[in-house]
Amino acid sequence: MGLTITEKCIKKSIVAGDWQQRGSRIGLRAHQTLGYDVNAVMTFLALDQLGIDRVKTEVSVQYIDHNMLQADYKNADDHLFLEQMCAKYGVICARPGSGICHQLHLEYFGVPGKTLIGGDSHTPAQGGLGMLGIGVGGFDAALAMAGHPVYLAMPQVVNVHLSGQLPPLVSAKNVILAVLQKIGVKGAVGKVLEYTGPGVATLSVTERSTITNMSTETGATSAIFPSDDTTKAWLAAHDRQADWIALAADDDARYDARLDIALDQLEPLIALPHSPGQVVPVAEVAGIKLDQVMLGSCTNTALPDVLQMAAMFKNQRVASHVDAALYPSTRTVIKAALKAGAFGALVDAGVRIFEPSCGGCNGCGFAPQSHGVSLRTTPRNFAGRSGTADDQVYLSAPEVAVASAITGVITDPRTLAWEPAEYSVPTHFERPANLFIVPEPVTTVTYGPNLLPLPQFGQHAAKLGGEVLLKLPDNVTTDDICPAGALYLPIRSNIPAISKHSFQTIDPTFYQRARDAAGGVLVAGNNYGQGSSREQAAIIPRYLRIAVIIAKGFARLHLANLVNWGVVPLIFADANDYAKIHAGDQLQVALAQFEAEPTVTVTNLTQNTTFTAKTPLGKADRHTVMVGGKLNAIKESEAQTCD
Ligand code: SF4
Repeated sequence: MGLTITEKCIKKSIVAGDWQQRGSRIGLRAHQTLGYDVNAVMTFLALDQLGIDRVKTEVSVQYIDHNMLQADYKNADDHLFLEQMCAKYGVICARPGSGICHQLHLEYFGVPGKTLIGGDSHTPAQGGLGMLGIGVGGFDAALAMAGHPVYLAMPQVVNVHLSGQLPPLVSAKNVILAVLQKIGVKGAVGKVLEYTGPGVATLSVTERSTITNMSTETGATSAIFPSDDTTKAWLAAHDRQADWIALAADDDARYDARLDIALDQLEPLIALPHSPGQVVPVAEVAGIKLDQVMLGSCTNTALPDVLQMAAMFKNQRVASHVDAALYPSTRTVIKAALKAGAFGALVDAGVRIFEPSCGGCNGCGFAPQSHGVSLRTTPRNFAGRSGTADDQVYLSAPEVAVASAITGVITDPRTLAWEPAEYSVPTHFERPANLFIVPEPVTTVTYGPNLLPLPQFGQHAAKLGGEVLLKLPDNVTTDDICPAGALYLPIRSNIPAISKHSFQTIDPTFYQRARDAAGGVLVAGNNYGQGSSREQAAIIPRYLRIAVIIAKGFARLHLANLVNWGVVPLIFADANDYAKIHAGDQLQVALAQFEAEPTVTVTNLTQNTTFTAKTPLGKADRHTVMVGGKLNAIKESEAQTCD
C-alpha cells in the first residue's frame, strides 16, 4: 500500500503510537519549532520548569511579530526577555520587525518532509513547502523544544484534488475560501488536507502556503502540498537548494476522503463577518461601502502578493473615504519590492505602509472606526479581533481588496477596466542583513514587572462542579475567551490581569461572577475554542477555578491546551441534554472513576436530573488532567523514574 505525503512525514517523526491507526494517539518529535512573542513568554517560562540546558531540536526559531506596539514598558520587557531566553536555550531569535513568523520561516527555515511544531495555529503555512506544520499551545511548544513528543490523534488524510489553472484576478486565497465554502469551519477537524492533482504545478510556493495557512480555519490538524520542481526553484531562490527533497504521494496512496476543486471554475470569493466559513461570491455583496482595507498578514503579503497589489494600484488612488494599509510580511519582501520598483505605486496611491508584523490582524495597530466596515486579506474575522468591538470585517484575496480600496465599495476586480502594470518576481532573493540575533550565552535573564511565574495547579478531587456560569453557543473562539488586541496582548502572560477580560464580549459580568462563585462549570456548543493556539484561553478558566467544561465538541488545539492545564473536557453523550441545562444550574460531576472510565455521570442538582457525558481523551490524557496538568504529570513521571 502506498503512502500519502502526510504519512511519509509522520513516519519520519513518530516516536510513539501507530500511524496506521487513524484516530489513535501518536507522539511526534519535532525537527523544528516556531514560537511568537505573545505566546512564547509562557513557552519559555514552561521551558524553565523542564530542566534542560539547550533545546533538543534541529532548529528552533522565536519570532517577535505579533505585537510590535511599544506604548509602555510591557512589550519592550517581553521582547528583551524573549531575546535573553533565546540566548539561554540556543533558540534563533528574529529581530522585532524582521517579519511575520510563517513567511519568514518559509523563506529561511522550512524543509520539505520534516515536522514543525509551532506555537501558533497557522503553522500549517509551511505545508506550502511540503513540510508538516502542526500548531500547538505554548506548553506543547516548550515540550517539543525540550525533546518530548507532542501527542495528537493520528489524523485522517483528505485528498484535495486540484485541476485546471486559476483565472486572471482569482488568486490562491480563493482556493481556500472555496474549501471553506464547501466544508465549513469544522469540516477538517481531525484531518490533514493534502493537496494533489495537476493544478498543484500551476501554483507557486507562496500561493500554496496561503492555502495551507488558512486551512487552519477548517479545523484541520495540518495541510500540505507536494515538494516538486517549483519548491526546488523557490528554495534555490533563497539560497537553500540543499534543503530540497522531492516529496509526493505514492500512486496507490490511500486517502480517507476526496474533495475536488477545479481552479479554472473559481470566482472571487469573500468571507462575511464574523466567520471565515461564511463564504459567498464577491458579486453577492458588491457595492457595500467600505471604511477600511487592510492588505497584509501571514496569508497574503508574500512578494507576489505585494507586486500584484502595486501593479493594480499603479496610477490609481485609494478612495478618499477609505483608510488603506499594507503590512509587508518580511524585510526580504520589502527589499525585493523596493528593488522591483513596486513600492512607489503603493505610496502614490495613498496606502499606509506599516512594518512587517501581524499588526492590524490581531488588533495591534489598524483598528477600524466604530461600526467600521473593513475588508482584509487576513485569515480571520472573528468579531472584535480588529480591536474594534463592533467591527464588520470581510476577508478576501488581495485583488478584491485592492479593487475595493480604489472604488471604495466591495468590488469584483474583474469588473474594473484598467491596464495593470507588471512587476516580475525575481529568481533570486537578497537576504537583508541582520534579520536574526545569533544566540550567545547569557548569565542573567530580566523578568519585567509584567512577567509573573507560570501558574501552578493541584490535582482534582473526585467530585467537581458548581454553578453553570455561562451557557455558550457553537463556535466560541479563543478571541471570545481571551481577547486579542493592543490592550490585551501585553498582559497575556499576566493571568490575573488578562482573566478580568475573559468572555467580555459575551458577558461582561462573567469575571466578577466567577470570582464571587469561586468556581463553576462552563457549558458550550460545538467547536468550543476554535481559533488560535493561545493557551491562556485554557489557563484562565482554571485560574478562575472552573475545572470542568461540558460541550458538544471541542476544537483540537484548544482541547490539547485544556489537557495541559488540567481542565476536564466533557462532551454530552446525548447532544439534546445541552438544551436542558440553564445558566445558573448547579452541576456535580463524579470523577472518581474518570481515569479508568471515559464516561461520567453529571447530576443537575437544581433540576434533580442526571445525564451522561464522556471525554474525548484517552487514558494517558485523563490521568494528566486529573493530576492537574502536563507539568504535574511530567514531574510525577520523573519522580517515579528516580524512585
Ligand atoms: Fe499573525 Fe494574523 Fe497570521 Fe496570526 S493570523 S500569524 S496574528 S498575521
